[in-house]
Amino acid sequence: MYLSGRVAVVTGASRGIGRAVALALARAGADVLINYISRAGEAEAVVAEIESLGRRTKAFQADVSKTKEASALVDFALSHFGKLDILVNNAGVTRDSLLLRMKEDDWDTVIQVNLKGAFNCTKAAVRAMTKARWGRIINISSVIGLTGNVGQANYAAAKAGLIGFTKAAAKELGSRNITVNAVAPGFILTEMTAGLPDEVKKRLQERIALGRFGEPEEVADVVVFLAGPAARYVTGQVLGVDGGIAI
Ligand code: NAD
Repeated sequence: MYLSGRVAVVTGASRGIGRAVALALARAGADVLINYISRAGEAEAVVAEIESLGRRTKAFQADVSKTKEASALVDFALSHFGKLDILVNNAGVTRDSLLLRMKEDDWDTVIQVNLKGAFNCTKAAVRAMTKARWGRIINISSVIGLTGNVGQANYAAAKAGLIGFTKAAAKELGSRNITVNAVAPGFILTEMTAGLPDEVKKRLQERIALGRFGEPEEVADVVVFLAGPAARYVTGQVLGVDGGIAI
C-alpha cells in the first residue's frame, strides 16, 4: 500500500477536511492519530471508522495553539505508535469581519490557531523526523492566503503566513529528507463554508472553472499524494485544490 507502515498525526481531524484526510491516509495504509479540540464523540467516530479499516488509531485532545498541548500531542504519537512520519497541520478557524470592525481577539485567535498551531506542531515533530531522516509535513493553507478576501484580513494573513512558513521550513529541513508542502483549497463543502448565504455561494460558483464547490475527499487525495513516495522530490510547494478559482 502507498503509505504502509507510516504513522500520521492530523490536527483538527474530527470533521471536515481533517476527517477526510485522516480516513484517506488510513485507507492508504497509515496509522493515524486524530487530534481534536472539542466534540470528542465525533473524534471517536473517526477512530472507529479507521479501526474498521484495520489500522492503529487513537484520538487525542489538544489545542494546537497552545505550545504545551501541541507538544503533548506529538509526544503521545511517539510513545503510542513509536514514531511519527507524517504531520498534517489542518486545524483552522475563521473569525470574519471587515477590517474596521475586526476585534483584536478575532485577529489573535485566527493567527494563533492557523499559523502558530502549525509552528507548534511542526517544531514538536521535527526532532523525531530529523533523527529518522524521513518526514512529510503538509500544511493546509487556503486560496485566500494567495488572493486575500474581503472580511478575512486575519485569515488571509494567517494562511499567507503558512505559505512563507512552508517555504522556509522546506529549505531548512530538506537536507534531513523532510519535505514540507502546503495545500491551498478553494471552497470546500464543510462546516466552515456551510454558513455562506446562498447568493454568495452562487457568485463564488460562477468563478470556479469546474463550476462547483469541492468535497473534503478531493483535498484529502492531494494530501495522500504529498505524504507518499510519488511526491518524494516535491518540497516547498503550494498545491491549489480549488477547481480553478485562482486561475
Ligand atoms: P472545520 O471547521 O470543519 O474544521 C476545522 C477543524 O479544526 C475542526 O475539527 C476544529 O475543531 C479544529 N480546530 C479548531 N481550532 C483548533 C485548535 N485550536 N486545536 C485543534 N483543533 C482545532 O473546517 P474545514 O473546512 O474542515 O477546515 C480545515 C482546514 O482547511 C482549515 O485549516 C481551514 O482553514 C482550511 N480550509 C478550508 C476551506 C473550506 O472551504 N472549507 C478552504 C480552504 C482552507
